[in-house]
Amino acid sequence: MTSAAVRDVSIFGEAIAYFNEAADLLELDSGMRRILTHPSRQIIFSIPFQRDSGEFEVFTGYRVQYNFARGPAKGGIRYHPGVTLDEVTALAFWMTWKCAVVDLPFGGSKGGVTCDPTTLSSSELERITRRYAAELVEVVGPDKDVPAPDVNTTPQVMAWFMDTYSMHVRQNVPGVVTGKPLEIGGSRGRVEATGRGVTICALDQMQKMSIDASRAAIVIQGFGNVGMHAAKLFAERGCKVVAISDISGAYYNEKGVNIDAALSHAAKFRTLEGFAGGERIGNAEMLLSNCDVLVPAALENVFTAQNAGQVKAKLIVEGSNGPTSPEADRIFKERGITVIPDIMGNAGGVTVSYFEWAQDRMGYFWKEHEVNERLEDVLLTNLHEIRKIAERRGATLRTAAYTLAIDRVVRALKLRGIYA
Ligand code: GLU
Repeated sequence: MTSAAVRDVSIFGEAIAYFNEAADLLELDSGMRRILTHPSRQIIFSIPFQRDSGEFEVFTGYRVQYNFARGPAKGGIRYHPGVTLDEVTALAFWMTWKCAVVDLPFGGSKGGVTCDPTTLSSSELERITRRYAAELVEVVGPDKDVPAPDVNTTPQVMAWFMDTYSMHVRQNVPGVVTGKPLEIGGSRGRVEATGRGVTICALDQMQKMSIDASRAAIVIQGFGNVGMHAAKLFAERGCKVVAISDISGAYYNEKGVNIDAALSHAAKFRTLEGFAGGERIGNAEMLLSNCDVLVPAALENVFTAQNAGQVKAKLIVEGSNGPTSPEADRIFKERGITVIPDIMGNAGGVTVSYFEWAQDRMGYFWKEHEVNERLEDVLLTNLHEIRKIAERRGATLRTAAYTLAIDRVVRALKLRGIYA
C-alpha cells in the first residue's frame, strides 16, 4: 500500500479513466465530459495550531466540492500524512458517483488534513478539527456540503466539527455533519454501516456466483472502521474470515480467525500487533493468498499491474476508495475476477449518513432495525440495477455502476441547465 504523497501518478487522473469508459458507453458529449471532469470548488487553507508543548505548527487543510447537481455535496474528512489536493479531489469525484449510484439526493465532496494523527493528543486533534471547521463555516451546512468520518476521523471529531459550526452560526445545527455520536443527533447503525454494506453486497454477489457462504474463505485487508465491522458481520453470518490485517502485518488462519478475539485485541492495544490468533504473514502476501472473497478496506492503490495477475480470489468487494488501478481492473476483467466497485461496495456508510441527515432534519430518530432494513433495500436495489446494466452491455460491474451514476448526474444537470 503506497501513500498518495509518494506516488508519481495522479490518483484523480486515474479515476477519470473509469469515468471515460462509462462516458463512452453513454455516448456522452464532450461538453458534459468537460464539466464532469472538473471539480466545482477546491479549497486549500492553513491550519495553525498549538501543540500541547506550547509550540505552534501549521498543517494544510483541504475541502473539494466536486459536484452539486443532485443536492448538497457530501463526503468525509480524512486525517492522514498522505493527504494531497490530488487525492482529496479523486475522493470527492468518487463521492459524486457513489451518492448517485445509490440514488441519494447529494453531490460529492471530500476533505482532509495532511497530518499524522498517531502523533497527536486528543486536545491537539480537537484544536485542529475546530480550526478546520471554522475555516469552512461559509461553505458547509446541511444544504451546502455535509462532511462525515473517513480515514482516522471519528464520531468525536464530528462532534467537535458540529459544535464549532453551531457556535459560529449561533444555533444548533446537527445536520451539518453525519457520523456523529448518538447523543447529539447521530443515527443508530452509522458506525457499522460501511462494513455492513460490504457484507450485504458480498453475500448477494456470492449467492449470484454460487459461492457457498458457509464454506467460503474471506480475506479482509485493513482493520479500521470498515474492515473491523465487515469482519464482525461476516463472522456473525457464519462466514469464515481466514485473514485480517492492519499496518502491523497480516494474520492468517486457514480454519478462520476468531474475530471476537481480534476485536478485543484491537480495542485493547489499538493495533493487531501481537495478535496470536493467526500465522503472521506479510500484507502483500495476504492479498495473493487462497480465498474466495477479498475485501480491501484500507487505502488506495492496493491492486496494480504488479500483483493483479496473482490474485486468487473469485470476488473482490471494495470496502476502501480507489484500491484498484485501471490496469489492475483490466487484468481482473480478463481473468474473470468479479469486482464490486468502491462506489457500490462501500456506499453503505454514506447511505446511513443520508439517513442521519434526514433524521436530523426531522428531529425524529429511527430504530436500528429500521436503519438496517432501509440500508439493505437501498444497496440491493441499486446493486441489482448495476448487474442488469452489466449484463445488458457486457460491461464490468464497475463500468455499469459508473454508467448508472453518470446517467443520473447528467439528467439532473440537464434539467437544471448550465448557468453560463
Ligand atoms: N467517508 C465515507 C465514504 O468514503 C463516508 C462519507 C459520508 O458518509 O459522507 O464513503
